[in-house]
Amino acid sequence: MNKVKISILSLTLLVTCILIYSCSKDDDSPAIPAEEGVSITSVVQATYTSAVTISTSDGSITLRSNGTPNHVSPYWGVGNALYEAQMAGSTLNPGTIREQVYAMTITTKPTEATNKEVTTLGPIGMALNGVPLYNDREGGNVPVDANVLGSFDRAGAHPGPGNTYHYHCTGDFTGNDNANLIGFLRDGFPIYARKDMDGSYPSNLDTNGGHIGTTADFSTPIYHYHASNTAYLGSRFYILKAGSYNGTKGTFTN
Ligand SMILES: [Zn+2]
Ligand SMILES: [Zn+2]
Repeated sequence: MNKVKISILSLTLLVTCILIYSCSKDDDSPAIPAEEGVSITSVVQATYTSAVTISTSDGSITLRSNGTPNHVSPYWGVGNALYEAQMAGSTLNPGTIREQVYAMTITTKPTEATNKEVTTLGPIGMALNGVPLYNDREGGNVPVDANVLGSFDRAGAHPGPGNTYHYHCTGDFTGNDNANLIGFLRDGFPIYARKDMDGSYPSNLDTNGGHIGTTADFSTPIYHYHASNTAYLGSRFYILKAGSYNGTKGTFTN
């Protein structure tokens, strides 16, 4: 009788050990794959101004704005509280600042695309104040020239057709010779001004103007763009972004 009891106890112990072993095997899950991406959600929510309405849904985040700047510009027009005279030696284009209806929807966990898509005319991202970011091209898909440069205000911006005010360059209100976060591009990756947070100019940018590293906003290394550190055509302006997206672009409707 005792022997039977001992055998049952031994069997129970053995089964228990097998169960514990099986459970611990389940915890041996694979590491999170690098291609999964760093989440941008909390940084987007913390850094965009109240002029931008943010909503999240199923792995994507939508930013809505009216596209008008929260700073002075000659393009507000005389009489507006935010009007200032254009810089000496520059000429305004015929446009003005008018409210738009913008919605940019991007992934919350951007990853590098296998095939990099070239940026095109129109919005390629959104600044923290809701103003669209444009690349180095103008109508006709030609690079910004001296005439166009002459139309920029000191924000590195001007209105396009439909009075759509937009930034092509660094400027006095977003970021320039510093490590300011300027906004996010349509592929979900952040874009910074000309410096990294340690005060240095990044020296290892890829052909699309970005590299992987930590920033003031991301303690986990993330791919991020920097504005060009070359004075464009010898002007006071530095192009925000040229070339291709690193990731896969989301939508920007207007
Ligand atoms: Zn333009
Ligand atoms: Zn950097």
